[in-house]
Amino acid sequence: MWLWVRGSDQFALFRAKGATTFVTMMLKKVFRAGLQSGIRLQSTSAAAATAASNSNAGSFGFSFELTDQQKEFQQLARRFAREEMIPAVPAYDRSGDYPFPIIKKAWELGLVNGHIPQEYGGMGLSIFDSCLITEELAYACTGMQTAMEANSLGQMPVIIAGSDAQKRKYLGRMTEEPLMCAYCVTEPGAGSDVAGIKTRAVKMGDEYVVNGQKMWITNGGKANWYFLLARTNSDPKCSTGKAFTGFIVDADTPGIQVGRKEMNMGQRCSDTRGITFEDVRIPKENVLIAEGAGFKIAMGAFDNTRPPVAAGATGLAQRALDEATHYAMERKTFGKAIAEHQAVSFLLAEMAMKVELARMAYQRSAWEVDQGRRNTYYASIAKAFAGDIANQVASDAVQVFGGNGFNSEYPVEKLMRDAKIYQIYEGTAQIQRLIIAREHLGRYKK
Ligand SMILES: Cc1cc2nc3c(=O)[nH]c(=O)nc-3n(C[C@H](O)[C@H](O)[C@H](O)COP(=O)(O)OP(=O)(O)OC[C@H]3O[C@@H](n4cnc5c(N)ncnc54)[C@H](O)[C@@H]3O)c2cc1C
Repeated sequence: MWLWVRGSDQFALFRAKGATTFVTMMLKKVFRAGLQSGIRLQSTSAAAATAASNSNAGSFGFSFELTDQQKEFQQLARRFAREEMIPAVPAYDRSGDYPFPIIKKAWELGLVNGHIPQEYGGMGLSIFDSCLITEELAYACTGMQTAMEANSLGQMPVIIAGSDAQKRKYLGRMTEEPLMCAYCVTEPGAGSDVAGIKTRAVKMGDEYVVNGQKMWITNGGKANWYFLLARTNSDPKCSTGKAFTGFIVDADTPGIQVGRKEMNMGQRCSDTRGITFEDVRIPKENVLIAEGAGFKIAMGAFDNTRPPVAAGATGLAQRALDEATHYAMERKTFGKAIAEHQAVSFLLAEMAMKVELARMAYQRSAWEVDQGRRNTYYASIAKAFAGDIANQVASDAVQVFGGNGFNSEYPVEKLMRDAKIYQIYEGTAQIQRLIIAREHLGRYKK
């Protein structure tokens, strides 16, 4: 298998078999040693300590400088994205095949599941550090990156609400082999209105019996286990905060039927399916926290996963900007490169402004949650803004390419197709605005 290992000043590609474990350990060591986040509001002493450990962090106070280790994560992900992922993208986009060989390589390098805590075999990366990796992987292909990111979404309820035994069992196994998991909340009749889900779990002795249908589940057909949200209180007057329960469900439990792979507009190699639960028996040990705690767990996960979704959208937008810029510098009309026409250069300038601001938004939202602060406001701003600009920038890139942009031989039409989902999953563009407005007005009411 191919593995990236870091040389003195560059990466070298090794073909190794026996070296897998050794190299993976080395890479994990690099990751584990990583400082918790790059953008820091530092006290003078903390800044001095960082400056001492990082020759690039030359200033005190607010800093946008990444640590040396964060730059290493970023470089590793960048090299993997450009040299392993990009060449494979057109074939996966055409076939819609699940990119497991790519995911497996990424897993071997520690580029997947980085946020699993160290005590359960993971690297315990901060959300900020995970976002840096996510942006780089998304630059290559957001279909592949969404398949990897769905693991974070499935794992996050367990990370934030699981018992020690649940974490050891379900997170631990994902560090031992390249397994996938999924987040099962949306139903055919309820997406934005999560409280409207109809899947029921009824307690019978030491088990819960689940019946219902889920829809649009990323990794639905590839998951080893699911996070499942189901209604446990049948009283329609029961408050949303008490009516639902979160479960961990092994995917091979009898009664689970996985639907067909959905053919989507973009991100075609990502696996999206409906899942039916028919008299599925779940042991009570698999309840997260307690009966009735599920809604808060399911929604709480988003504070940690929306920053990476925004980072993915930013990676896509950066790719569109890069492709459009290179093209504009080469394509000539009326005797000069189209980049020299002011209308085109201003379009590129607008695209650059949007990409820079989306990056700042996801970094702020990630940094906030890494500080242990409630980041709901920032996470929704980042997700809504980056999702919108990914669509605008990808569409503008198609415009810069002219007729070629509309053709699948060029990379930008895929970017435009792939971008759309960022305004839909993990809370639509409209739902993000509802959250931002609620948080914003709440600050004024205090
Ligand atoms: C490719 C893909 C992958 C997905 N992966 C997952 C997954 O892994 N797990 C999972 O649980 N779900 C997943 N989803 C589901 C996704 O989160 C939902 O599709 C999304 O939340 C929207 O829900 P909906 O489709 O039911 O649309 P609806 O909720 O029916 O919304 C339809 C439209 O109405 C708008 N709208 C709804 N309510 C309001 C309101 N109150 N105010 C203003 N506008 C409103 C919405 O913004 C949208 O434009 C995925 C979806 C897709 C397409």
